[in-house]
This record gives sequence, structure tokens and C-alpha cells, in this order.
Amino acid sequence: MIELSDITFAYEQDGFALRAEMLSIAKGEKIAVVGPSGSGKTTLLHLIAGILVPSCGKVQVEGQEVSAMSDKARRRLRLTTMGMVFQGIELIDYLSARENVLLPYRINSARSLDSAAKQRAEELLERVGLQAVSGRAASGLSQGERQRVGICRALVAQPGLVLADEPTSSLDDENAASALDLLIQLVDESGATLVMLTHDKAQLPRFDRVVAVDRGEVSGAVSGATSGGVR
Ligand code: ADP
Ligand code: MG
Repeated sequence: MIELSDITFAYEQDGFALRAEMLSIAKGEKIAVVGPSGSGKTTLLHLIAGILVPSCGKVQVEGQEVSAMSDKARRRLRLTTMGMVFQGIELIDYLSARENVLLPYRINSARSLDSAAKQRAEELLERVGLQAVSGRAASGLSQGERQRVGICRALVAQPGLVLADEPTSSLDDENAASALDLLIQLVDESGATLVMLTHDKAQLPRFDRVVAVDRGEVSGAVSGATSGGVR
């Protein structure tokens, strides 16, 4: 599903550089990426998402070389194959919970917002206990409810790859636990691949494999219980 080889990426503005010799993630794997704040986790996620492009090395997603694509092609790949959950949740406040869940269809003209999509959104909202507030503007939801909407939005279009950037870090313990349960459950059901960044060591047993990032060095990438090497 994902393969990074001999990657180097550096921000022009500061001295930070990220390096990954080899990171290979199989379809359906659930990967946690851990590391201290500022170690490069978000940078790694953005390289996988094709938001950033490495200065050398290759990023491949579903057999396509993301690092060699145009901006437009990378955006299209992102919109068609990936669902993203953000640290800051990032809903559109004046849209309802339901409309926020359906945003992947609004921003991607290749996906049609048909009745099947609408039904999937309703089912997801029901699953996460938000049926009663699905018509409410996102600004009127609690943090926990907002992130459940964010998770539904990431999964509604049935992406093969879900990328989550510390999705529970702005939640209290109880909401964090239920948001993680939900994310894992939905990902398991859909068979999607999950790459989630987290600070919370207690969450690690829920994942197939842990990748560590320390001061820009990506490691622990090819060893592990369920996977190793290139697939
Ligand atoms: P993490 O997600 O692990 O906290 P990041 O990948 O966000 O780490 O950041 C890694 C390093 O890159 C930090 O030192 C940060 O200051 C720097 N950095 C992040 N984004 C940018 C940017 N847009 N421009 C310049 N430097 C950045
Ligand atoms: Mg980060």
C-alpha cells in the first residue's frame, strides 16, 4: 500500500530534515507512528499524503509513485484513495455535522454525492451516536462529537488508506478512548490501511506495528510482528 525508500525531506525555512531509508506498509495494516513533538511525524504523514514531496527518494502509494506526480495528480490521488483525520479536527463550523461528513464528495468532483453516499453518511452518524445532532451546525457540537464527525468524514468515501494526525490529542481521556475505538472499528470493518500518529503509549497495543520517529529519523519501520520488508 505504501512504500518510502531512501527519502530525504528538508524544510527550506529551518534546518529540520526527515530521513527514511525504508518504510513499507501492507494493505490493511494499522500502523502507529510515535515520537516526541517536533520529531517529524506530521512531516512523514504529509509525505505519504503527497502534501509534501521529498527532495530525494521515492514515495509510492498503491503502486503509484506519488513523489513523481504533478500537484494536480497528487491531489487527485489523495482525494480518491485517502481519508484524513486532523489533530485540530478542522470542521466547517457553519455546516451541519451531516454536511461536514459529506465534504469529501463536495471537494472531489470525481465522486458523486448520490443516495448511497448520503445513506452511508447517515449510517456512520448513527454508528457514532450522532444521529440526533446530525443536522446541527458543527459549531454547536462538543469536542468529542466534533472528532467523531471528523472520523466519519475520513471514512465516508471508503478510502483504502486512512491517515490520522494525533486525532485524539485535543480530547479528554474518555472521548479520546471512544474516538480511537471508533476509528479502529471502522477501519477494521472497511479493511482500510491506517497510519495514525500518536503521543499516547497506551494506544499502541491496538496497532499491528509501531514506527518511531526521532529527530527526523524514521525507524522501526521494517521489523515487527505482522510485517517486514517489502510487500
Ligand atoms: P511532529 O508532528 O512530530 O510534532 P513536525 O513534522 O510537525 O513534527 O515538525 C518537525 C520539524 O519540522 C519541527 O522542527 C518543525 O518546526 C519543523 N516544521 C514543521 N512544519 C514546518 C514548515 N511548514 N516550515 C518549516 N519548518 C517546519
Ligand atoms: Mg505533528
